[in-house]
Amino acid sequence: MESCIFCQIAGNEIPTAFILEDDLAVSFKDIEPRAPVHFLVIPRRHVASLNEARDPALLGHLLDFARQTAEKIGLEQYRLVINTGRDSGQAVFHLHLHVLGGRKLGWPPG
Ligand code: AMP
Ligand code: ZN
Repeated sequence: MESCIFCQIAGNEIPTAFILEDDLAVSFKDIEPRAPVHFLVIPRRHVASLNEARDPALLGHLLDFARQTAEKIGLEQYRLVINTGRDSGQAVFHLHLHVLGGRKLGWPPG
């Protein structure tokens, strides 16, 4: 999807340093970090949100990709967040996993 910022990142149209990449997914630092470590995992293919995801294998891959990325940067304690829908805080409608860590995280999230 041409106008989608995360499609542009995945397609290298917006230069972005990937922490990890493969055929299906990429991970990169969040531009507005909410924790000392905050990166995003996105599928290369456009999926608007978890509600539109119809591929359990891809979802499993994204989860494993988050773990692989955390392992690569030596992050052992972290939280995964998938905001789904505007009321949850979703602002970019291309599925993404937030991975947050590097400090003690409050519970429950706001
Ligand atoms: P959400 O609010 O769950 O849709 O999260 C979208 C996230 O994308 C926010 O945390 C933004 O800071 C982040 N973001 C938006 N544009 C960029 C970008 N160009 N590079 C990295 N992160 C971005
Ligand atoms: Zn997209």
